[in-house]
Amino acid sequence: MSTNLIYGDYHTHTVFSHGKGTIEQNVQEAIKHNLKAIAITDHGFGQPFAGITPKSFEVMKEQVKELRVKYPEIKILLGVEANIINKKGEIDLTDEQEKDMDIILAGYHLSATQRRLPALFSLAVPAVLWTAGICTKGQVRRNTQVYLKAIQSRKIDVITHPGYMMPIDYDEFGKCCADLGTLVEISTRHEVPTEENLEKLINAGVNFIINSDAHELNEIGCVDYALGLVEKYNIQDRVVNLNSCEFKLRSKS
Ligand SMILES: [Zn+2]
Ligand SMILES: [Zn+2]
Repeated sequence: MSTNLIYGDYHTHTVFSHGKGTIEQNVQEAIKHNLKAIAITDHGFGQPFAGITPKSFEVMKEQVKELRVKYPEIKILLGVEANIINKKGEIDLTDEQEKDMDIILAGYHLSATQRRLPALFSLAVPAVLWTAGICTKGQVRRNTQVYLKAIQSRKIDVITHPGYMMPIDYDEFGKCCADLGTLVEISTRHEVPTEENLEKLINAGVNFIINSDAHELNEIGCVDYALGLVEKYNIQDRVVNLNSCEFKLRSKS
């Protein structure tokens, strides 16, 4: 499927977390696919082994500054895919660090919670049980509250792969995202939301973004799963990066 239907790919990883490409290689690949924008969104400061560090982020900032001059044909955003790290919905991004970000994505990743007490019991163990097909209604309720608290307390632009490893009530989650202007990602990488849950998000009035979440260079701009759903449900006008222009981010409002 063609990849140049999207204006930009706003969720890509590089060698600064556990992606394979350098920032420059990601940018070059995006240009090859005729993208007008790319966001570099490596894993958050609190992710052991795979996350960015305050020191590495300084290097990233320098590189992006130079690449913006070298490749004026594409807009390069430097952001983060922050981690939801506890049941209070806190993310691993300080207010100070937030100021440095062009775009703020947030999602749940098991590796960012399995070494933290008490997130180990409130988020990590339930996530492992989820992989075995076990999830209670009470856990879904608690997970939903975690997402809501995150969105309500921080200006998160995009929730990545919503519900992946952390099932939620999509009606309630969708309503909150719609009210506050947080975009919901339709994830090709993790194939969430499912059709059934996408319908709930559509009915809740959510606006969407479709990104690759590329960890490999050849994945940049690849949004096949998401695009298939967008076409099936005819929601092109609800997907912010399918348009031929840029869109407003909640963190910048
Ligand atoms: Zn992720
Ligand atoms: Zn990611």
